[in-house]
Amino acid sequence: MKLKTFLGGIHPPSHKNLSAGKKIEEPPLPKTVCIPLAQHIGAPCEARVEKGQKVKKGEVIADSQAFVSAPIHASISGTVTAVQDYPHPSGKKIKAVIIESDEKDEWFREPKNGQDPLQLSSEELKKKIREAGIVGLGGAAFPTHVKLSPPKEKNIDAIILNGVECEPYLTADHQLMLEKTEAIVKGLQIILRIMGVQKGYIGIEVNKPDALKAMKKATKGLSNIEVVGLKVKYPQGAEKQLIKAILGREVPPPPGLPMDVGAVIQNVGTAYAIYEAVTFGKPLIERIVTVTGRGIKEPKNLRLRIGTLFSEIINYCGGIQGEAGKVLMGGPMMGLAQYTAQVPIIKGTSGILVLSKEELASGESKHCINCGMCVRACPMHLIPSSLGTYCEKDLFEEAEAAHIFNCIECGSCVFVCPANRHLVQMVKYGKSAILAAKKQQQQKK
Ligand code: SF4
Ligand code: SF4
Repeated sequence: MKLKTFLGGIHPPSHKNLSAGKKIEEPPLPKTVCIPLAQHIGAPCEARVEKGQKVKKGEVIADSQAFVSAPIHASISGTVTAVQDYPHPSGKKIKAVIIESDEKDEWFREPKNGQDPLQLSSEELKKKIREAGIVGLGGAAFPTHVKLSPPKEKNIDAIILNGVECEPYLTADHQLMLEKTEAIVKGLQIILRIMGVQKGYIGIEVNKPDALKAMKKATKGLSNIEVVGLKVKYPQGAEKQLIKAILGREVPPPPGLPMDVGAVIQNVGTAYAIYEAVTFGKPLIERIVTVTGRGIKEPKNLRLRIGTLFSEIINYCGGIQGEAGKVLMGGPMMGLAQYTAQVPIIKGTSGILVLSKEELASGESKHCINCGMCVRACPMHLIPSSLGTYCEKDLFEEAEAAHIFNCIECGSCVFVCPANRHLVQMVKYGKSAILAAKKQQQQKK
Protein backbone atom coordinates (compact mmCIF):
# COMPACT_ATOMS: atom_id res chain seq x y z
CA MET A 1 0.00 0.00 0.00
CA LYS A 2 1.27 3.49 -0.88
CA LEU A 3 2.12 5.36 2.30
CA LYS A 4 0.70 8.79 2.93
CA THR A 5 3.07 11.75 2.64
CA PHE A 6 3.60 15.19 1.05
CA LEU A 7 5.46 16.50 -1.99
CA GLY A 8 9.14 17.43 -1.63
CA GLY A 9 11.23 16.75 1.46
CA ILE A 10 14.45 14.88 2.11
CA HIS A 11 15.83 11.70 3.66
CA PRO A 12 18.60 12.67 6.09
CA PRO A 13 20.32 9.87 8.06
CA SER A 14 18.23 9.30 11.18
CA HIS A 15 20.95 8.63 13.82
CA LYS A 16 18.06 7.61 16.09
CA ASN A 17 19.78 4.34 16.98
CA LEU A 18 21.90 6.25 19.53
CA SER A 19 18.97 6.63 21.95
CA ALA A 20 16.11 4.60 20.41
CA GLY A 21 14.57 2.02 22.73
CA LYS A 22 16.24 3.47 25.82
CA LYS A 23 13.73 3.64 28.69
CA ILE A 24 12.91 7.08 30.04
CA GLU A 25 15.16 7.71 33.06
CA GLU A 26 14.83 10.29 35.79
CA PRO A 27 18.14 11.81 36.90
CA PRO A 28 18.69 12.92 40.50
CA LEU A 29 16.89 16.08 41.56
CA PRO A 30 18.73 19.22 40.39
CA LYS A 31 20.28 21.29 43.20
CA THR A 32 19.30 24.51 41.44
CA VAL A 33 16.86 25.33 38.64
CA CYS A 34 16.77 28.50 36.49
CA ILE A 35 13.23 28.91 35.20
CA PRO A 36 12.88 31.58 32.47
CA LEU A 37 9.79 33.79 32.44
CA ALA A 38 9.52 33.48 28.64
CA GLN A 39 9.00 29.88 27.58
CA HIS A 40 6.16 30.12 25.10
CA ILE A 41 4.91 32.04 22.08
CA GLY A 42 2.94 35.07 23.30
CA ALA A 43 3.26 37.40 26.27
CA PRO A 44 6.09 36.57 28.67
CA CYS A 45 5.11 36.07 32.31
CA GLU A 46 5.82 38.34 35.26
CA ALA A 47 7.40 36.92 38.38
CA ARG A 48 4.96 36.26 41.23
CA VAL A 49 7.75 35.45 43.70
CA GLU A 50 10.74 37.31 45.08
CA LYS A 51 14.21 36.59 46.38
CA GLY A 52 14.20 34.71 49.69
CA GLN A 53 10.68 33.29 49.23
CA LYS A 54 10.12 29.60 49.89
CA VAL A 55 8.27 27.73 47.11
CA LYS A 56 6.96 24.24 46.59
CA LYS A 57 6.93 22.06 43.49
CA GLY A 58 3.99 22.97 41.26
CA GLU A 59 3.44 26.42 42.79
CA VAL A 60 2.84 29.26 40.31
CA ILE A 61 5.96 31.44 40.22
CA ALA A 62 5.08 33.57 37.17
CA ASP A 63 1.96 34.43 35.18
CA SER A 64 0.46 36.97 32.80
CA GLN A 65 -2.97 38.53 32.28
CA ALA A 66 -2.61 38.08 28.50
CA PHE A 67 -4.76 35.43 26.80
CA VAL A 68 -1.85 34.17 24.69
CA SER A 69 0.35 33.14 27.59
CA ALA A 70 0.62 30.35 30.17
CA PRO A 71 1.65 30.34 33.83
CA ILE A 72 4.99 28.96 34.94
CA HIS A 73 5.41 26.72 38.00
CA ALA A 74 8.27 25.87 40.35
CA SER A 75 9.75 22.55 39.25
CA ILE A 76 11.37 21.80 42.63
CA SER A 77 10.72 22.89 46.20
CA GLY A 78 13.19 25.27 47.82
CA THR A 79 14.12 28.94 48.13
CA VAL A 80 14.10 31.61 45.42
CA THR A 81 17.68 32.89 45.41
CA ALA A 82 17.27 35.44 42.61
CA VAL A 83 14.95 36.80 39.93
CA GLN A 84 17.42 37.98 37.34
CA ASP A 85 18.47 37.92 33.70
CA TYR A 86 19.88 34.54 32.76
CA PRO A 87 21.13 32.87 29.51
CA HIS A 88 18.17 31.43 27.57
CA PRO A 89 18.31 28.78 24.81
CA SER A 90 17.08 31.46 22.34
CA GLY A 91 20.53 33.08 22.65
CA LYS A 92 19.24 36.09 24.63
CA LYS A 93 19.40 36.83 28.34
CA ILE A 94 15.90 36.59 29.78
CA LYS A 95 14.59 37.12 33.30
CA ALA A 96 14.47 33.84 35.23
CA VAL A 97 13.45 32.66 38.69
CA ILE A 98 16.34 30.81 40.27
CA ILE A 99 15.40 28.24 42.94
CA GLU A 100 17.80 26.40 45.22
CA SER A 101 16.47 23.00 46.20
CA ASP A 102 15.61 22.09 49.81
CA GLU A 103 15.94 18.47 48.62
CA LYS A 104 12.46 17.69 49.98
CA ASP A 105 10.76 17.82 46.56
CA GLU A 106 7.46 18.74 48.23
CA TRP A 107 4.34 19.39 46.18
CA PHE A 108 2.40 22.62 46.54
CA ARG A 109 -0.69 20.60 45.72
CA GLU A 110 -0.12 16.87 45.31
CA PRO A 111 -1.56 15.57 42.00
CA LYS A 112 -4.45 13.22 42.67
CA ASN A 113 -7.21 11.53 40.76
CA GLY A 114 -10.04 14.00 40.34
CA GLN A 115 -13.31 14.02 38.45
CA ASP A 116 -13.43 12.02 35.20
CA PRO A 117 -12.20 14.57 32.61
CA LEU A 118 -14.73 13.29 30.08
CA GLN A 119 -17.50 14.50 32.43
CA LEU A 120 -16.14 18.07 32.50
CA SER A 121 -17.24 20.82 30.11
CA SER A 122 -15.00 22.17 27.37
CA GLU A 123 -14.48 25.44 29.28
CA GLU A 124 -13.62 23.62 32.52
CA LEU A 125 -11.07 21.48 30.70
CA LYS A 126 -9.45 24.48 28.98
CA LYS A 127 -9.24 26.28 32.33
CA LYS A 128 -7.39 23.31 33.83
CA ILE A 129 -5.03 23.21 30.84
CA ARG A 130 -4.22 26.91 31.21
CA GLU A 131 -3.75 26.60 34.97
CA ALA A 132 -1.30 23.74 34.37
CA GLY A 133 0.78 25.98 32.08
CA ILE A 134 0.60 23.62 29.14
CA VAL A 135 2.12 24.71 25.83
CA GLY A 136 2.87 22.79 22.64
CA LEU A 137 5.70 20.40 23.51
CA GLY A 138 6.73 19.66 19.93
CA GLY A 139 8.96 22.73 20.03
CA ALA A 140 6.66 25.60 19.03
CA ALA A 141 5.49 26.13 22.64
CA PHE A 142 2.21 27.81 21.69
CA PRO A 143 -0.15 28.00 24.70
CA THR A 144 -2.43 24.96 24.38
CA HIS A 145 -5.63 26.52 25.79
CA VAL A 146 -5.39 29.15 23.02
CA LYS A 147 -4.86 26.57 20.27
CA LEU A 148 -7.91 24.72 21.59
CA SER A 149 -10.03 27.91 21.36
CA PRO A 150 -10.33 28.64 17.62
CA PRO A 151 -12.78 31.36 16.50
CA LYS A 152 -16.37 30.10 16.27
CA GLU A 153 -16.51 30.47 12.48
CA LYS A 154 -13.70 27.90 12.00
CA ASN A 155 -15.25 24.54 11.38
CA ILE A 156 -12.81 22.10 13.00
CA ASP A 157 -13.50 18.48 12.06
CA ALA A 158 -10.15 16.77 12.68
CA ILE A 159 -7.65 16.60 15.53
CA ILE A 160 -4.25 15.18 14.60
CA LEU A 161 -1.77 13.97 17.19
CA ASN A 162 1.74 14.37 15.89
CA GLY A 163 3.83 11.31 16.70
CA VAL A 164 6.08 11.73 13.68
CA GLU A 165 9.29 13.00 15.32
CA CYS A 166 10.98 13.39 11.93
CA GLU A 167 14.00 15.34 13.25
CA PRO A 168 17.06 13.10 13.09
CA TYR A 169 18.51 11.91 16.43
CA LEU A 170 15.41 12.63 18.58
CA THR A 171 13.55 9.71 20.16
CA ALA A 172 11.72 11.27 23.14
CA ASP A 173 8.26 11.17 21.51
CA HIS A 174 8.87 7.64 20.25
CA GLN A 175 9.76 6.40 23.72
CA LEU A 176 6.85 8.28 25.30
CA MET A 177 4.44 6.63 22.82
CA LEU A 178 5.77 3.23 23.97
CA GLU A 179 5.68 3.95 27.70
CA LYS A 180 2.55 6.12 27.96
CA THR A 181 0.41 4.83 25.11
CA GLU A 182 -2.92 4.72 26.98
CA ALA A 183 -2.39 8.16 28.55
CA ILE A 184 -1.70 9.71 25.12
CA VAL A 185 -4.89 8.17 23.72
CA LYS A 186 -6.82 9.51 26.72
CA GLY A 187 -5.24 12.92 26.07
CA LEU A 188 -6.56 12.78 22.51
CA GLN A 189 -10.04 11.86 23.77
CA ILE A 190 -9.94 14.89 26.09
CA ILE A 191 -8.93 17.15 23.17
CA LEU A 192 -11.78 15.72 21.05
CA ARG A 193 -14.21 16.49 23.87
CA ILE A 194 -12.89 20.05 24.29
CA MET A 195 -13.21 20.74 20.58
CA GLY A 196 -16.49 18.85 20.08
CA VAL A 197 -14.82 17.03 17.17
CA GLN A 198 -15.74 13.51 16.06
CA LYS A 199 -12.51 12.36 14.46
CA GLY A 200 -8.98 12.07 15.80
CA TYR A 201 -5.84 10.82 14.05
CA ILE A 202 -2.44 9.78 15.38
CA GLY A 203 0.25 10.19 12.71
CA ILE A 204 3.41 8.10 13.14
CA GLU A 205 6.19 7.42 10.63
CA VAL A 206 6.57 3.75 9.73
CA ASN A 207 10.13 3.69 11.08
CA LYS A 208 8.51 3.34 14.53
CA PRO A 209 6.65 0.04 14.01
CA ASP A 210 6.51 -0.69 17.77
CA ALA A 211 4.82 2.66 18.47
CA LEU A 212 2.38 2.12 15.58
CA LYS A 213 1.52 -1.33 16.92
CA ALA A 214 1.08 -0.07 20.49
CA MET A 215 -1.16 2.83 19.39
CA LYS A 216 -3.26 0.56 17.17
CA LYS A 217 -3.74 -1.83 20.09
CA ALA A 218 -4.64 1.01 22.49
CA THR A 219 -7.20 2.46 20.06
CA LYS A 220 -8.81 -0.86 19.07
CA GLY A 221 -12.55 -0.46 19.40
CA LEU A 222 -12.36 3.35 19.33
CA SER A 223 -14.03 4.06 16.00
CA ASN A 224 -13.36 7.81 16.23
CA ILE A 225 -9.56 7.44 16.38
CA GLU A 226 -7.42 6.35 13.44
CA VAL A 227 -3.72 5.56 13.68
CA VAL A 228 -2.00 6.49 10.40
CA GLY A 229 1.38 5.10 9.33
CA LEU A 230 3.29 7.73 7.34
CA LYS A 231 6.17 7.57 4.90
CA VAL A 232 9.55 8.32 6.47
CA LYS A 233 10.49 11.71 5.11
CA TYR A 234 11.63 15.02 6.57
CA PRO A 235 9.78 17.33 7.47
CA GLN A 236 6.79 14.97 7.78
CA GLY A 237 6.11 16.31 11.27
CA ALA A 238 5.68 19.93 10.15
CA GLU A 239 2.03 20.90 10.63
CA LYS A 240 1.23 21.69 6.99
CA GLN A 241 2.95 18.55 5.70
CA LEU A 242 1.19 16.39 8.31
CA ILE A 243 -2.21 17.79 7.34
CA LYS A 244 -1.47 17.24 3.65
CA ALA A 245 -0.41 13.65 4.30
CA ILE A 246 -3.30 12.65 6.57
CA LEU A 247 -6.21 14.78 5.34
CA GLY A 248 -5.05 15.69 1.82
CA ARG A 249 -5.78 19.35 2.60
CA GLU A 250 -3.55 22.34 1.76
CA VAL A 251 -3.17 24.96 4.49
CA PRO A 252 -3.32 28.38 2.78
CA PRO A 253 -0.15 30.51 2.79
CA PRO A 254 0.52 32.77 5.83
CA PRO A 255 -1.39 34.06 7.68
CA GLY A 256 -3.31 30.83 6.87
CA LEU A 257 -3.41 28.31 9.73
CA PRO A 258 -4.34 24.62 10.09
CA MET A 259 -7.72 25.70 11.53
CA ASP A 260 -8.51 27.29 8.14
CA VAL A 261 -8.74 23.75 6.75
CA GLY A 262 -10.54 22.37 9.79
CA ALA A 263 -7.56 20.83 11.57
CA VAL A 264 -5.89 21.23 14.95
CA ILE A 265 -2.53 19.53 15.54
CA GLN A 266 -1.11 18.60 18.92
CA ASN A 267 2.12 16.82 19.70
CA VAL A 268 1.87 13.42 21.47
CA GLY A 269 3.82 14.88 24.42
CA THR A 270 1.26 17.67 24.73
CA ALA A 271 -1.58 15.12 24.73
CA TYR A 272 0.17 13.30 27.58
CA ALA A 273 0.62 16.57 29.53
CA ILE A 274 -3.07 17.41 28.97
CA TYR A 275 -4.09 14.00 30.32
CA GLU A 276 -1.95 14.48 33.46
CA ALA A 277 -3.18 18.05 33.98
CA VAL A 278 -6.91 17.40 33.73
CA THR A 279 -6.92 13.96 35.36
CA PHE A 280 -4.60 14.63 38.29
CA GLY A 281 -4.20 18.43 38.33
CA LYS A 282 -0.48 18.09 37.55
CA PRO A 283 1.18 21.26 36.23
CA LEU A 284 3.86 21.19 33.54
CA ILE A 285 7.03 21.05 35.63
CA GLU A 286 8.91 18.44 33.61
CA ARG A 287 9.14 17.00 30.13
CA ILE A 288 10.79 14.18 28.17
CA VAL A 289 14.05 15.13 26.47
CA THR A 290 16.45 13.14 24.28
CA VAL A 291 20.10 13.79 25.09
CA THR A 292 22.11 12.50 22.17
CA GLY A 293 24.74 12.96 19.46
CA ARG A 294 28.15 11.38 19.00
CA GLY A 295 29.59 14.02 21.32
CA ILE A 296 27.67 12.51 24.28
CA LYS A 297 29.10 9.46 26.08
CA GLU A 298 25.76 7.85 26.98
CA PRO A 299 22.79 9.08 24.94
CA LYS A 300 19.50 8.79 26.87
CA ASN A 301 15.82 9.67 26.99
CA LEU A 302 15.22 11.58 30.20
CA ARG A 303 12.35 13.02 32.24
CA LEU A 304 13.73 16.42 33.21
CA ARG A 305 12.57 19.20 35.48
CA ILE A 306 12.07 22.53 33.72
CA GLY A 307 14.99 24.79 34.61
CA THR A 308 17.65 22.05 34.90
CA LEU A 309 20.87 23.21 33.26
CA PHE A 310 22.13 21.55 30.06
CA SER A 311 25.59 21.22 31.64
CA GLU A 312 24.19 19.16 34.54
CA ILE A 313 22.33 16.86 32.15
CA ILE A 314 25.34 16.40 29.89
CA ASN A 315 27.34 15.35 32.98
CA TYR A 316 24.59 12.89 33.96
CA CYS A 317 24.95 11.34 30.49
CA GLY A 318 28.65 10.68 31.07
CA GLY A 319 29.85 14.02 29.76
CA ILE A 320 31.30 15.05 26.42
CA GLN A 321 33.07 12.47 24.31
CA GLY A 322 36.03 13.63 22.24
CA GLU A 323 35.86 17.15 20.88
CA ALA A 324 32.34 18.59 20.84
CA GLY A 325 31.60 20.50 17.66
CA LYS A 326 28.30 22.05 18.61
CA VAL A 327 25.57 21.89 21.28
CA LEU A 328 22.00 22.36 20.05
CA MET A 329 18.60 22.56 21.66
CA GLY A 330 16.43 20.31 19.48
CA GLY A 331 17.44 18.36 16.40
CA PRO A 332 20.08 19.09 13.77
CA MET A 333 17.61 20.46 11.20
CA MET A 334 15.62 23.03 13.17
CA GLY A 335 17.47 23.10 16.49
CA LEU A 336 19.04 26.18 18.06
CA ALA A 337 22.84 26.30 18.45
CA GLN A 338 23.91 27.15 22.01
CA TYR A 339 26.87 29.35 22.90
CA THR A 340 26.93 27.97 26.45
CA ALA A 341 25.77 24.81 28.22
CA GLN A 342 24.66 26.96 31.18
CA VAL A 343 21.17 27.30 29.67
CA PRO A 344 18.08 25.66 31.18
CA ILE A 345 15.59 23.10 29.90
CA ILE A 346 12.45 25.00 28.91
CA LYS A 347 8.98 23.73 28.02
CA GLY A 348 9.95 23.62 24.31
CA THR A 349 13.15 21.57 24.74
CA SER A 350 12.71 18.28 22.90
CA GLY A 351 16.39 17.42 22.80
CA ILE A 352 19.95 18.30 23.71
CA LEU A 353 22.17 17.38 20.80
CA VAL A 354 25.92 17.36 21.16
CA LEU A 355 27.45 16.93 17.73
CA SER A 356 31.05 15.80 17.46
CA LYS A 357 33.43 17.68 15.16
CA GLU A 358 33.08 14.84 12.58
CA GLU A 359 29.28 15.05 12.57
CA LEU A 360 29.28 18.73 11.70
CA ALA A 361 28.75 19.54 8.05
CA SER A 362 31.86 21.25 6.78
CA GLY A 363 32.79 23.20 3.71
CA GLU A 364 32.68 26.79 2.67
CA SER A 365 29.62 28.38 1.19
CA LYS A 366 30.11 28.81 -2.56
CA HIS A 367 28.17 30.36 -5.44
CA CYS A 368 24.92 28.73 -6.48
CA ILE A 369 25.37 26.38 -9.42
CA ASN A 370 21.66 26.42 -10.31
CA CYS A 371 21.34 22.66 -9.89
CA GLY A 372 17.72 22.95 -8.71
CA MET A 373 18.12 20.41 -5.92
CA CYS A 374 16.82 22.85 -3.30
CA VAL A 375 13.68 23.45 -5.37
CA ARG A 376 12.95 19.72 -5.54
CA ALA A 377 13.52 19.36 -1.80
CA CYS A 378 11.46 22.33 -0.62
CA PRO A 379 8.23 21.04 1.01
CA MET A 380 6.68 24.51 0.65
CA HIS A 381 7.27 24.60 -3.14
CA LEU A 382 9.47 27.69 -2.97
CA ILE A 383 12.62 28.52 -4.92
CA PRO A 384 15.14 28.56 -2.05
CA SER A 385 18.08 29.51 -4.31
CA SER A 386 16.29 32.73 -5.37
CA LEU A 387 15.19 33.51 -1.81
CA GLY A 388 18.81 33.16 -0.66
CA THR A 389 20.10 35.46 -3.40
CA TYR A 390 17.41 38.11 -2.79
CA CYS A 391 18.13 38.19 0.93
CA GLU A 392 21.89 38.22 0.40
CA LYS A 393 21.50 41.30 -1.82
CA ASP A 394 18.90 42.99 0.43
CA LEU A 395 16.27 42.69 -2.33
CA PHE A 396 13.47 42.36 0.19
CA GLU A 397 10.54 43.28 -2.08
CA GLU A 398 11.60 40.51 -4.43
CA ALA A 399 11.98 38.11 -1.48
CA GLU A 400 8.46 38.92 -0.30
CA ALA A 401 7.08 38.48 -3.81
CA ALA A 402 8.83 35.07 -3.84
CA HIS A 403 6.82 34.15 -0.69
CA ILE A 404 9.63 34.25 1.85
CA PHE A 405 7.07 34.09 4.68
CA ASN A 406 5.89 30.68 3.45
CA CYS A 407 9.30 29.27 4.37
CA ILE A 408 9.05 27.06 7.48
CA GLU A 409 12.85 27.13 7.96
CA CYS A 410 13.03 23.34 7.79
CA GLY A 411 16.57 23.30 6.38
CA SER A 412 15.80 20.75 3.63
CA CYS A 413 17.31 23.09 1.02
CA VAL A 414 20.52 23.45 3.01
CA PHE A 415 20.78 19.69 3.44
CA VAL A 416 20.78 19.02 -0.31
CA CYS A 417 22.75 22.05 -1.51
CA PRO A 418 26.08 20.98 -3.05
CA ALA A 419 27.36 24.56 -2.77
CA ASN A 420 26.78 24.70 1.01
CA ARG A 421 24.65 27.81 0.64
CA HIS A 422 23.45 29.07 4.04
CA LEU A 423 19.91 29.42 2.75
CA VAL A 424 18.02 29.27 6.07
CA GLN A 425 20.32 31.84 7.63
CA MET A 426 19.69 34.13 4.67
CA VAL A 427 15.93 33.62 4.86
CA LYS A 428 15.90 34.32 8.60
CA TYR A 429 17.88 37.51 7.99
CA GLY A 430 15.47 38.54 5.20
CA LYS A 431 12.36 37.87 7.29
CA SER A 432 13.59 39.88 10.26
CA ALA A 433 14.71 42.79 8.02
CA ILE A 434 11.29 42.91 6.31
CA LEU A 435 9.43 42.77 9.64
CA ALA A 436 11.65 45.47 11.17
CA ALA A 437 11.04 47.76 8.15
CA LYS A 438 7.27 47.19 8.43
CA LYS A 439 7.32 47.99 12.14
CA GLN A 440 9.24 51.18 11.48
CA GLN A 441 6.74 52.22 8.80
CA GLN A 442 3.83 51.61 11.19
CA GLN A 443 5.46 53.66 13.93
CA LYS A 444 5.83 56.59 11.50
CA LYS A 445 2.07 56.55 10.70
S1 SF4 B 1 13.12 27.40 1.55
FE1 SF4 B 1 12.38 27.18 3.64
S2 SF4 B 1 10.69 25.70 3.50
FE2 SF4 B 1 11.89 25.54 1.61
S3 SF4 B 1 13.36 23.91 2.02
FE3 SF4 B 1 14.38 25.82 2.53
S4 SF4 B 1 14.00 26.08 4.70
FE4 SF4 B 1 12.54 24.53 4.01
S1 SF4 C 1 20.80 23.49 -4.22
FE1 SF4 C 1 22.30 25.11 -3.84
S2 SF4 C 1 23.50 25.18 -5.70
FE2 SF4 C 1 21.66 24.03 -6.20
S3 SF4 C 1 20.22 25.59 -6.94
FE3 SF4 C 1 19.85 25.41 -4.80
S4 SF4 C 1 21.13 27.00 -3.86
FE4 SF4 C 1 21.89 26.68 -5.93
